[in-house]
Amino acid sequence: MTATDTRRTAITDERARRFVARAHGLRTLGFTLSTLILGTVLYRNAAPAPIWGLLVAHGYVWPHLARLHARFSRDPARLEQFNVMADAVMIGVWIALIRFNLLPSVLIATMFAMALIAIDGTRLLVRGSALLVVACGVAAALTGFSIAPRTDMIELLACLPLLLVFPLALATITHRLARRVQTQNRQLFQMSSIDSLSGLLNRRHWEDAVNAALARHCCDDAVMLLIDIDNFKQVNDQHGHTVGDEVVRKVGAIIRNSLRDGDLAGRYGGDEFGVVLCGVGVHAAAAVAERIRSSVACSLVERAPGLRCTLSIGLARGGAAIGSASEWVKEADAAMYRAKLAGRNRLVAAT
Ligand code: GH3
Ligand code: MG
Repeated sequence: MTATDTRRTAITDERARRFVARAHGLRTLGFTLSTLILGTVLYRNAAPAPIWGLLVAHGYVWPHLARLHARFSRDPARLEQFNVMADAVMIGVWIALIRFNLLPSVLIATMFAMALIAIDGTRLLVRGSALLVVACGVAAALTGFSIAPRTDMIELLACLPLLLVFPLALATITHRLARRVQTQNRQLFQMSSIDSLSGLLNRRHWEDAVNAALARHCCDDAVMLLIDIDNFKQVNDQHGHTVGDEVVRKVGAIIRNSLRDGDLAGRYGGDEFGVVLCGVGVHAAAAVAERIRSSVACSLVERAPGLRCTLSIGLARGGAAIGSASEWVKEADAAMYRAKLAGRNRLVAAT
């Protein structure tokens, strides 16, 4: 099994564990409050002792049994679905046993349906509802179709805790799930937009961000720097790729620390970085570029103490004439190329 497979299995296990825990919480709460309603109706109907035994087992033993059952299964999520179907059968039977007392029957069935939708959408709802109706029909047939739909005041009062508490619990769970999805979406976006080595935007997202800034006319007083590590291939060849990676990481960190809010920095290619400095003139931008260049030149690489890296930087002014990120990069790249030709380790501005 590869590391990715192991991680995927761990994520699936965690998801299944959360699903089982959520189902257990809802089942315990729902059945405890339903037992109050069912007990009230059964008491008023003078139900026989075995039915009381069944009620206690259902309300107080079954939720924990179901959790144990799912927990020790190889496929907890699948087994939990089986448990939910067992819930449907039991609820159907109870509706028949309380002789279709209207408010308790409708309330318990509705809360069950809401829980199914909250846990798994409408797929479980269709199967669960069908099973509930069939179980209810069979139990009603076995008990002689005894029907007493009227709900009196005491039975109505017994319904209130379920009516008040259960929807609030469901809303809390749904809200938590929505928050988790939001956080995961944010993390996913970060993972897909940030280059893991340099910590800067990756090329696609950087170009998108620059194009968006151009479309908003935010780049009329902005300057682009195209920064390339000098002789980086030699660094890899002489010190190895791990040291090369450390250099990329270090340059990324130095660039990040040199920027202000609103500036855009990305890893444009292997050893090339693009930066758009917003709201600055050429002189101020040249000062920032110079700071980045000298910081990198002075910076030590832990794994190769003797190594000093330098940068060649091309600078191109923004303005209304720039139509796209790639056009702007082309100008900065030409300036950077001249910096290489002039001996590297320097800044050259586009003419
Ligand atoms: P120049 O001064 O003209 O820019 O020379 P250079 O050696 O820096 O340029 P060249 O384009 O020949 O080499 C860039 C090297 O960067 C080649 C590639 O193997 C290396 N590289 C690209 N991405 C990575 C990376 O993520 N990690 C490491 N360690 N090396 C990388
Ligand atoms: Mg290079």
